[in-house]
Amino acid sequence: MRVLFTSPEIFPLVKTGGLGDVAGALPPALHRAGAEMRLLMPAYPGVETLTEAKPVANLGDPFGRGDAVVLEGRMPQSDLTLWLLDCPALFHRDGGPYQDGAGQDWPDNDLRFALLGWTAARLSRGDSPLPWQPHVLHAHDWQTGLAAAYLRAWGGARPGVVFTIHNMAYQGLFAADLVPRLNLPWSLHTMDGFEFWGRMSYLKAGLAFSDKLTTVSPTYAKEIQTPAYGFGMEGLLSYRAKDLSGILNGADYGVWDPAGDSHLACRYGADDVVRGKAANKAALQAELGLPAAPSVPLCVVISRLNDQKGMDLLLAIMPALLEQGAQLALLGTGEHAIEAAMQALAKARPDQVAVRIGYSEGMAHRLQAGGDILLMPSRFEPCGLTQIYALRYGTLPVVSFTGGLADTVVDASYATLLHGKATGFVFQQCTPSAFQWCVERAIGMYRRPEQWRDIQANAMRQAFSWDQAAGRYLDLYRSLLSIGEGGKAEGGGQP
Ligand code: ADP
Repeated sequence: MRVLFTSPEIFPLVKTGGLGDVAGALPPALHRAGAEMRLLMPAYPGVETLTEAKPVANLGDPFGRGDAVVLEGRMPQSDLTLWLLDCPALFHRDGGPYQDGAGQDWPDNDLRFALLGWTAARLSRGDSPLPWQPHVLHAHDWQTGLAAAYLRAWGGARPGVVFTIHNMAYQGLFAADLVPRLNLPWSLHTMDGFEFWGRMSYLKAGLAFSDKLTTVSPTYAKEIQTPAYGFGMEGLLSYRAKDLSGILNGADYGVWDPAGDSHLACRYGADDVVRGKAANKAALQAELGLPAAPSVPLCVVISRLNDQKGMDLLLAIMPALLEQGAQLALLGTGEHAIEAAMQALAKARPDQVAVRIGYSEGMAHRLQAGGDILLMPSRFEPCGLTQIYALRYGTLPVVSFTGGLADTVVDASYATLLHGKATGFVFQQCTPSAFQWCVERAIGMYRRPEQWRDIQANAMRQAFSWDQAAGRYLDLYRSLLSIGEGGKAEGGGQP
């Protein structure tokens, strides 16, 4: 089984969130399960050096921004073959993969990710200049959605296409006059194609033209077929329900396990969790300038700071949390108003609140290890990895009952405690009062160390395996092996 796996970010090369983690860990698991993998992502600055990539093909200049050259290198840890799409005018710039240093979307994201989709489609077909074609193209999120549209436009023999939704909120919406500029036919710009309320949506292209759709948890797969979570695309998703499945993400315990985590002051496992967490908590409090207080509950947040993640709910309950005597340590970036409000809080209450605005892989690990309670009050959460990591670190999560949070955390109720199943604290309605009550329940439980340790032990035992997820993806790929012959061309049949 040959699989071309394309994502706009792949850990450890580039990561802005969970998608990067998934794209870093799933391909090695698929490889272990027997698939032959090629990875494709843009050649952001520095990546070609890290992967020792060399040019192997020139695909020409479809959009007038310079030639698209394919570089071939190796992934740093897994040694899998990586193809980098090199187009300096589009990808060689300082800043993030999607935004500049000031947090503004790059103005040419339309062309940047059209080229990624176009390249994935080019490298998937029999007329690719490279001597390797996939049975399946597996594309991730809106940045790769046009790959399926190009394959549909060109017609002819093609691989099966699997498209994975990591977040319905990001839809890749651009003005419709882009359609001819991207050499796509207007016949695909329809209600059942990539047209979305008069604009063009790269996400919808992926949803409409891929053979199979997946998302990253079973609950989110159901939720996105409803108006509350479908962001206007619930109709299309319900229509495609028989092709849509939810495959729960795994965790890469090679990266996220306190027993082998090189970012920590002190490594620990389930058998020495009390000692290990105490040492990491003391180190974290010292690092963040919080009072050294071993028995005060330390709540941690590692998050994008926006509405999705319920950061307004966190701000709303802060007085109650402080009243309880808890500490809060937060790491994140996002909306400026939330960043400013969090920073103001830290300034006003330095004895209880520490805030770090920015992105730090090392600190994310140290917060997981040093914290007692992870707060994750998301309004929606396709899967969520942060709470899965927290479980392994014995940092009990407080989460809302949605998407992957509902699928991975078991609320500490009378019954689940009795049966040794509880792993955290879950609240149903995304309101400040429900969240506050849940945090207070967690803090109350923290003050009963014996029960707390039982829940910690359950949490640390959880194993969200990528190998299991890879098996499910392979089954899906196999179901597409007969696609091969493809359909008629929609747009003249020429790349
Ligand atoms: P999402 O992908 O929606 O942002 P997830 O919980 O699925 O949320 O994944 C978030 C990933 O990004 C985790 O690996 C988390 O540790 C990491 N992360 C989020 N914010 C930061 C930050 N400011 N610094 C370092 N890592 C972060």
